Amino acid sequence: MLHIDLQNKWVAKAHREHLKYVYCRIRKKLTGETCGDSACGVCAQPSHIIKGLPHSLDAVLTDRNTLETLIGGSPDDLQNLNELIWFEMIPDFNWDEYNLYLPVRDKELKKLSDDQQYLVYKYDRFYRIQLRIIDYDTWFQNKDNEPRYDAYRLAVNLDRRTCTYCNRIWTTTIKNRHNKKVMRANYDHWFPQTKFPLLALSFCNLIPSCTVCNSSVKNDTNYSLATHMHPYVDMDALSRFQYSYDFFRSTNTYQIKIKSGFGDTKAARTYRDMKLQDIYDAHHAELIDMINIREAYSDKYIERMMLNFKDAGLTYEEVYKMAFGVEYLEDHYFKKPLSKFKKDILTELKLAR
Ligand SMILES: [Zn+2]
Ligand SMILES: [Zn+2]
Repeated sequence: MLHIDLQNKWVAKAHREHLKYVYCRIRKKLTGETCGDSACGVCAQPSHIIKGLPHSLDAVLTDRNTLETLIGGSPDDLQNLNELIWFEMIPDFNWDEYNLYLPVRDKELKKLSDDQQYLVYKYDRFYRIQLRIIDYDTWFQNKDNEPRYDAYRLAVNLDRRTCTYCNRIWTTTIKNRHNKKVMRANYDHWFPQTKFPLLALSFCNLIPSCTVCNSSVKNDTNYSLATHMHPYVDMDALSRFQYSYDFFRSTNTYQIKIKSGFGDTKAARTYRDMKLQDIYDAHHAELIDMINIREAYSDKYIERMMLNFKDAGLTYEEVYKMAFGVEYLEDHYFKKPLSKFKKDILTELKLAR
Protein backbone atom coordinates (compact mmCIF):
# COMPACT_ATOMS: atom_id res chain seq x y z
CA MET A 1 0.00 0.00 0.00
CA LEU A 2 1.23 3.48 -0.87
CA HIS A 3 0.52 6.42 1.38
CA ILE A 4 -1.08 9.64 0.15
CA ASP A 5 0.20 12.74 1.88
CA LEU A 6 -2.45 15.38 2.57
CA GLN A 7 0.39 17.86 3.09
CA ASN A 8 1.59 17.38 -0.49
CA LYS A 9 0.64 20.57 -2.35
CA TRP A 10 -1.24 18.78 -5.17
CA VAL A 11 -3.14 16.53 -2.79
CA ALA A 12 -3.96 19.54 -0.59
CA LYS A 13 -5.28 21.40 -3.62
CA ALA A 14 -7.38 18.38 -4.66
CA HIS A 15 -8.72 18.23 -1.09
CA ARG A 16 -9.67 21.93 -1.11
CA GLU A 17 -11.47 21.66 -4.43
CA HIS A 18 -13.30 18.49 -3.37
CA LEU A 19 -14.43 20.14 -0.15
CA LYS A 20 -15.67 23.24 -1.96
CA TYR A 21 -17.75 21.50 -4.59
CA VAL A 22 -19.13 18.59 -2.60
CA TYR A 23 -20.07 21.11 0.09
CA CYS A 24 -21.93 23.16 -2.54
CA ARG A 25 -23.73 20.09 -3.75
CA ILE A 26 -24.91 18.79 -0.39
CA ARG A 27 -25.83 22.20 1.00
CA LYS A 28 -27.88 22.99 -2.08
CA LYS A 29 -29.72 19.68 -1.75
CA LEU A 30 -30.44 20.34 1.91
CA THR A 31 -31.26 24.05 1.91
CA GLY A 32 -31.43 25.26 -1.69
CA GLU A 33 -28.64 27.76 -0.98
CA THR A 34 -25.82 28.31 -3.46
CA CYS A 35 -22.28 29.54 -2.87
CA GLY A 36 -22.73 32.73 -4.89
CA ASP A 37 -19.75 31.98 -7.15
CA SER A 38 -21.08 32.48 -10.69
CA ALA A 39 -18.38 30.13 -12.02
CA CYS A 40 -19.49 27.26 -9.76
CA GLY A 41 -20.63 24.47 -12.09
CA VAL A 42 -22.11 22.54 -9.18
CA CYS A 43 -24.42 25.30 -7.94
CA ALA A 44 -25.39 26.10 -11.54
CA GLN A 45 -26.92 22.63 -11.94
CA PRO A 46 -30.56 22.28 -10.95
CA SER A 47 -31.19 20.01 -7.97
CA HIS A 48 -34.18 19.19 -5.83
CA ILE A 49 -34.23 20.07 -2.16
CA ILE A 50 -34.59 16.89 -0.16
CA LYS A 51 -37.80 16.98 1.83
CA GLY A 52 -38.69 14.97 4.88
CA LEU A 53 -35.23 14.85 6.40
CA PRO A 54 -35.26 13.66 10.01
CA HIS A 55 -34.78 16.77 12.14
CA SER A 56 -31.71 15.35 13.85
CA LEU A 57 -29.94 14.71 10.54
CA ASP A 58 -30.96 18.09 9.14
CA ALA A 59 -29.57 19.85 12.22
CA VAL A 60 -26.26 18.02 11.98
CA LEU A 61 -25.70 18.41 8.26
CA THR A 62 -26.73 22.04 7.95
CA ASP A 63 -24.00 22.92 10.47
CA ARG A 64 -21.06 24.17 8.43
CA ASN A 65 -18.31 22.58 10.51
CA THR A 66 -20.00 19.21 10.63
CA LEU A 67 -20.66 19.11 6.92
CA GLU A 68 -17.04 20.12 6.24
CA THR A 69 -15.84 17.32 8.49
CA LEU A 70 -18.08 14.85 6.70
CA ILE A 71 -16.53 15.82 3.37
CA GLY A 72 -12.96 16.68 4.26
CA GLY A 73 -12.29 15.12 7.67
CA SER A 74 -9.65 12.54 8.56
CA PRO A 75 -10.63 8.86 8.52
CA ASP A 76 -10.84 8.96 12.31
CA ASP A 77 -13.17 11.98 12.20
CA LEU A 78 -15.30 10.28 9.56
CA GLN A 79 -15.72 7.16 11.61
CA ASN A 80 -16.71 9.14 14.71
CA LEU A 81 -19.03 11.50 12.88
CA ASN A 82 -20.78 8.66 11.08
CA GLU A 83 -21.48 6.95 14.37
CA LEU A 84 -22.60 10.19 16.00
CA ILE A 85 -25.08 10.84 13.19
CA TRP A 86 -26.56 7.36 13.48
CA PHE A 87 -27.09 7.89 17.19
CA GLU A 88 -28.64 11.31 16.53
CA MET A 89 -31.15 9.68 14.18
CA ILE A 90 -31.73 6.50 16.19
CA PRO A 91 -30.83 6.92 19.87
CA ASP A 92 -30.74 3.15 20.41
CA PHE A 93 -28.75 2.50 17.23
CA ASN A 94 -26.92 -0.80 17.45
CA TRP A 95 -24.16 -1.98 15.10
CA ASP A 96 -25.05 -5.65 15.43
CA GLU A 97 -28.66 -4.97 14.49
CA TYR A 98 -27.54 -2.69 11.66
CA ASN A 99 -25.29 -5.43 10.27
CA LEU A 100 -28.28 -7.78 10.26
CA TYR A 101 -30.44 -5.15 8.57
CA LEU A 102 -28.01 -4.56 5.65
CA PRO A 103 -28.37 -7.94 3.89
CA VAL A 104 -32.18 -7.93 4.10
CA ARG A 105 -32.80 -4.29 3.27
CA ASP A 106 -33.79 -4.86 -0.36
CA LYS A 107 -35.84 -8.00 0.19
CA GLU A 108 -39.61 -8.17 0.05
CA LEU A 109 -41.06 -7.46 3.48
CA LYS A 110 -43.44 -10.41 3.46
CA LYS A 111 -40.54 -12.82 2.93
CA LEU A 112 -38.80 -11.61 6.09
CA SER A 113 -39.15 -12.89 9.64
CA ASP A 114 -40.74 -10.66 12.26
CA ASP A 115 -37.31 -9.77 13.63
CA GLN A 116 -36.08 -8.81 10.20
CA GLN A 117 -39.17 -6.75 9.49
CA TYR A 118 -38.53 -4.92 12.74
CA LEU A 119 -34.98 -4.08 11.58
CA VAL A 120 -36.22 -2.77 8.26
CA TYR A 121 -38.83 -0.69 10.07
CA LYS A 122 -36.16 0.67 12.41
CA TYR A 123 -33.28 1.38 9.98
CA ASP A 124 -34.57 1.62 6.43
CA ARG A 125 -35.86 5.17 6.34
CA PHE A 126 -32.63 6.54 7.83
CA TYR A 127 -30.46 4.45 5.54
CA ARG A 128 -32.22 5.51 2.35
CA ILE A 129 -32.20 9.19 3.19
CA GLN A 130 -28.39 8.99 3.40
CA LEU A 131 -28.22 7.45 -0.06
CA ARG A 132 -30.37 10.28 -1.40
CA ILE A 133 -28.25 12.99 0.18
CA ILE A 134 -24.97 11.56 -1.11
CA ASP A 135 -26.14 10.26 -4.49
CA TYR A 136 -22.68 8.91 -5.32
CA ASP A 137 -23.45 6.90 -8.44
CA THR A 138 -25.52 9.41 -10.33
CA TRP A 139 -23.94 12.66 -9.29
CA PHE A 140 -20.28 11.99 -8.63
CA GLN A 141 -19.74 9.52 -11.48
CA ASN A 142 -21.32 12.11 -13.81
CA LYS A 143 -22.10 9.72 -16.67
CA ASP A 144 -23.98 12.55 -18.46
CA ASN A 145 -20.72 14.45 -18.63
CA GLU A 146 -22.09 17.70 -17.25
CA PRO A 147 -19.46 20.45 -17.15
CA ARG A 148 -18.74 20.46 -13.41
CA TYR A 149 -16.72 18.87 -10.63
CA ASP A 150 -16.89 15.06 -10.56
CA ALA A 151 -14.97 11.81 -10.06
CA TYR A 152 -12.91 12.46 -13.16
CA ARG A 153 -11.89 15.92 -11.97
CA LEU A 154 -10.78 14.50 -8.63
CA ALA A 155 -8.65 11.93 -10.47
CA VAL A 156 -7.04 14.70 -12.56
CA ASN A 157 -6.32 16.70 -9.40
CA LEU A 158 -4.87 13.78 -7.46
CA ASP A 159 -2.83 12.58 -10.45
CA ARG A 160 -2.20 9.15 -8.91
CA ARG A 161 -0.74 7.24 -11.81
CA THR A 162 -0.70 3.78 -10.24
CA CYS A 163 -3.02 1.94 -7.87
CA THR A 164 -2.63 3.07 -4.25
CA TYR A 165 -3.12 -0.47 -2.97
CA CYS A 166 -1.00 -2.58 -5.32
CA ASN A 167 1.28 -0.11 -7.19
CA ARG A 168 1.06 -2.61 -10.03
CA ILE A 169 -1.49 -1.21 -12.45
CA TRP A 170 -1.64 2.15 -14.21
CA THR A 171 -4.52 4.38 -13.07
CA THR A 172 -3.65 7.34 -15.28
CA THR A 173 -6.35 9.87 -16.14
CA ILE A 174 -6.77 10.22 -19.90
CA LYS A 175 -8.92 12.20 -22.32
CA ASN A 176 -8.78 11.53 -26.06
CA ARG A 177 -8.29 14.04 -28.88
CA HIS A 178 -11.99 14.90 -28.82
CA ASN A 179 -11.85 15.76 -25.14
CA LYS A 180 -13.76 12.61 -24.27
CA LYS A 181 -12.92 11.02 -20.93
CA VAL A 182 -11.25 7.69 -21.63
CA MET A 183 -10.08 6.42 -18.29
CA ARG A 184 -9.38 7.27 -14.68
CA ALA A 185 -8.68 5.52 -11.41
CA ASN A 186 -11.48 3.66 -9.65
CA TYR A 187 -12.30 4.84 -6.16
CA ASP A 188 -12.27 2.25 -3.47
CA HIS A 189 -14.39 3.22 -0.50
CA TRP A 190 -12.15 2.33 2.42
CA PHE A 191 -15.26 2.43 4.62
CA PRO A 192 -17.50 0.40 2.27
CA GLN A 193 -20.37 2.26 0.65
CA THR A 194 -22.95 -0.32 1.59
CA LYS A 195 -22.24 -0.03 5.28
CA PHE A 196 -21.29 3.66 5.37
CA PRO A 197 -23.49 5.36 2.74
CA LEU A 198 -22.94 8.77 4.32
CA LEU A 199 -19.17 8.55 3.77
CA ALA A 200 -19.32 7.79 0.05
CA LEU A 201 -18.19 11.29 -0.97
CA SER A 202 -15.70 11.89 1.82
CA PHE A 203 -12.28 12.77 0.42
CA CYS A 204 -10.26 10.41 2.64
CA ASN A 205 -12.66 7.60 1.84
CA LEU A 206 -12.08 7.78 -1.91
CA ILE A 207 -8.92 5.77 -2.50
CA PRO A 208 -7.70 5.89 -6.10
CA SER A 209 -7.16 2.28 -7.06
CA CYS A 210 -7.24 -0.22 -9.91
CA THR A 211 -10.25 -2.36 -10.86
CA VAL A 212 -8.66 -5.51 -9.46
CA CYS A 213 -8.08 -4.03 -6.01
CA ASN A 214 -11.38 -2.17 -5.95
CA SER A 215 -13.76 -4.83 -7.12
CA SER A 216 -12.37 -8.27 -6.63
CA VAL A 217 -9.84 -8.03 -3.85
CA LYS A 218 -10.94 -5.53 -1.26
CA ASN A 219 -14.62 -5.53 -2.11
CA ASP A 220 -16.77 -5.20 1.01
CA THR A 221 -14.23 -6.73 3.41
CA ASN A 222 -14.43 -4.94 6.69
CA TYR A 223 -11.40 -2.83 7.27
CA SER A 224 -11.06 -0.88 10.47
CA LEU A 225 -8.60 1.82 11.47
CA ALA A 226 -7.56 -0.32 14.42
CA THR A 227 -6.72 -3.37 12.34
CA HIS A 228 -5.70 -2.13 8.88
CA MET A 229 -3.44 0.54 7.44
CA HIS A 230 -5.11 3.46 5.67
CA PRO A 231 -3.37 5.39 2.85
CA TYR A 232 -4.24 8.77 4.40
CA VAL A 233 -3.33 7.73 7.94
CA ASP A 234 -0.30 5.46 7.83
CA MET A 235 2.41 7.62 6.33
CA ASP A 236 4.91 4.84 6.96
CA ALA A 237 2.78 2.26 5.11
CA LEU A 238 5.51 1.63 2.55
CA SER A 239 8.36 0.99 4.91
CA ARG A 240 6.37 -1.40 7.10
CA PHE A 241 6.60 -4.28 4.64
CA GLN A 242 9.06 -5.53 2.03
CA TYR A 243 8.71 -7.73 -1.01
CA SER A 244 11.10 -10.65 -1.06
CA TYR A 245 11.26 -14.10 -2.62
CA ASP A 246 12.10 -17.74 -2.08
CA PHE A 247 13.79 -20.04 -4.56
CA PHE A 248 12.98 -23.74 -4.51
CA ARG A 249 15.92 -25.65 -5.94
CA SER A 250 14.06 -28.96 -6.27
CA THR A 251 11.46 -27.51 -8.62
CA ASN A 252 13.55 -24.60 -9.89
CA THR A 253 10.73 -22.18 -9.09
CA TYR A 254 10.40 -18.84 -7.35
CA GLN A 255 7.78 -17.56 -4.98
CA ILE A 256 7.22 -13.92 -4.12
CA LYS A 257 6.71 -13.28 -0.43
CA ILE A 258 6.10 -10.29 1.80
CA LYS A 259 7.83 -9.57 5.07
CA SER A 260 6.84 -7.11 7.76
CA GLY A 261 8.39 -6.11 11.04
CA PHE A 262 8.14 -8.57 13.91
CA GLY A 263 4.81 -8.12 15.69
CA ASP A 264 3.46 -5.60 13.16
CA THR A 265 0.13 -7.38 12.82
CA LYS A 266 -1.54 -4.32 11.30
CA ALA A 267 0.84 -4.29 8.33
CA ALA A 268 0.68 -8.08 7.98
CA ARG A 269 -3.12 -8.09 8.05
CA THR A 270 -3.33 -5.27 5.51
CA TYR A 271 -1.24 -6.93 2.82
CA ARG A 272 -2.79 -10.33 3.59
CA ASP A 273 -6.34 -9.01 3.13
CA MET A 274 -5.29 -7.14 0.00
CA LYS A 275 -3.88 -10.40 -1.29
CA LEU A 276 -0.70 -8.57 -2.31
CA GLN A 277 1.43 -11.70 -2.05
CA ASP A 278 -0.82 -13.69 -4.40
CA ILE A 279 -1.14 -10.80 -6.80
CA TYR A 280 2.61 -10.23 -6.93
CA ASP A 281 3.23 -13.87 -7.68
CA ALA A 282 2.26 -12.84 -11.22
CA HIS A 283 5.58 -10.99 -11.46
CA HIS A 284 8.12 -13.80 -11.63
CA ALA A 285 9.38 -12.51 -14.98
CA GLU A 286 10.39 -9.17 -13.47
CA LEU A 287 11.95 -10.94 -10.51
CA ILE A 288 14.03 -13.22 -12.74
CA ASP A 289 15.20 -10.24 -14.83
CA MET A 290 16.57 -8.60 -11.70
CA ILE A 291 18.26 -11.79 -10.52
CA ASN A 292 19.85 -12.21 -13.95
CA ILE A 293 21.23 -8.69 -13.85
CA ARG A 294 22.72 -9.38 -10.46
CA GLU A 295 24.41 -12.53 -11.72
CA ALA A 296 25.71 -10.93 -14.89
CA TYR A 297 26.94 -7.62 -13.51
CA SER A 298 27.62 -8.00 -9.78
CA ASP A 299 26.32 -5.39 -7.38
CA LYS A 300 28.11 -2.54 -9.16
CA TYR A 301 25.59 -2.41 -12.01
CA ILE A 302 24.40 1.14 -11.46
CA GLU A 303 27.86 2.48 -10.63
CA ARG A 304 29.17 0.98 -13.88
CA MET A 305 26.37 2.53 -15.88
CA MET A 306 27.15 5.88 -14.26
CA LEU A 307 30.74 5.55 -15.40
CA ASN A 308 29.62 4.72 -18.93
CA PHE A 309 27.45 7.84 -19.04
CA LYS A 310 29.96 10.00 -17.18
CA ASP A 311 29.80 12.82 -19.72
CA ALA A 312 26.01 13.05 -19.30
CA GLY A 313 26.48 13.80 -15.59
CA LEU A 314 23.56 11.62 -14.54
CA THR A 315 22.81 11.15 -10.85
CA TYR A 316 22.44 7.77 -9.16
CA GLU A 317 18.68 8.24 -9.07
CA GLU A 318 18.48 9.06 -12.78
CA VAL A 319 20.53 6.02 -13.77
CA TYR A 320 18.44 3.79 -11.48
CA LYS A 321 15.23 5.01 -13.14
CA MET A 322 16.69 4.43 -16.60
CA ALA A 323 18.03 0.98 -15.76
CA PHE A 324 14.92 -0.44 -14.12
CA GLY A 325 12.06 1.68 -15.51
CA VAL A 326 10.69 2.52 -12.06
CA GLU A 327 10.90 5.35 -9.53
CA TYR A 328 13.74 5.48 -7.01
CA LEU A 329 12.34 7.74 -4.27
CA GLU A 330 9.55 6.45 -2.06
CA ASP A 331 7.45 9.60 -2.47
CA HIS A 332 7.46 9.05 -6.23
CA TYR A 333 6.61 5.33 -6.28
CA PHE A 334 3.02 6.14 -7.24
CA LYS A 335 4.21 7.44 -10.61
CA LYS A 336 5.38 4.05 -11.96
CA PRO A 337 4.01 0.53 -11.52
CA LEU A 338 6.16 -1.92 -9.54
CA SER A 339 8.42 0.77 -8.06
CA LYS A 340 8.09 -0.57 -4.51
CA PHE A 341 8.43 -4.21 -5.57
CA LYS A 342 11.54 -3.62 -7.66
CA LYS A 343 13.23 -1.40 -5.10
CA ASP A 344 12.76 -4.01 -2.38
CA ILE A 345 14.09 -6.85 -4.53
CA LEU A 346 16.96 -4.76 -5.93
CA THR A 347 17.92 -3.75 -2.41
CA GLU A 348 17.84 -7.37 -1.30
CA LEU A 349 20.06 -8.28 -4.27
CA LYS A 350 22.32 -5.34 -3.32
CA LEU A 351 21.77 -3.86 -6.78
CA ALA A 352 20.32 -0.70 -5.27
CA ARG A 353 21.20 1.27 -2.21
ZN1 LIG B 1 -21.20 26.44 -5.52
ZN1 LIG C 1 -4.48 -2.34 -7.43
